[in-house]
Amino acid sequence: MDCIFCKIIAGQIPGDKVYEDEKVFAFRDINPQAPVHVLIVPKKHMRNILECDEETAAAVLRAVKAIAAAEGVSVSGFRVVTNCGRDGAQSVEHLHFHLLGGDKLSETMA
Ligand code: AMP
Repeated sequence: MDCIFCKIIAGQIPGDKVYEDEKVFAFRDINPQAPVHVLIVPKKHMRNILECDEETAAAVLRAVKAIAAAEGVSVSGFRVVTNCGRDGAQSVEHLHFHLLGGDKLSETMA
């Protein structure tokens, strides 16, 4: 499968890794939208949140907490976003969650 995130997880192309466990891999977004912008990606390929099982969702939640603490944004706050499909402006078809923080984020969501 020609998936850029699968290739990053496999180490075939570089990624600025910040977290890894059995189920999840996380790395810095190449085009950051905030001082902290990490992509949290299930290792198993799934296209979007509609294909996400509960075990993976739990692993993502654990990763969110660990990364927020490691990046120093647990107290100041942060945002977690996943884009889904065309109208959700998803550009990479491997489920990922954006963790954004490190500054006051926009009040608007869309
Ligand atoms: P989305 O639009 O929600 O699908 O988000 C895809 C994200 O992947 C964008 O924020 C891109 O900047 C990011 N991205 C694409 N290619 C890479 C890469 N090679 N390394 C890190 N981030 C990437």
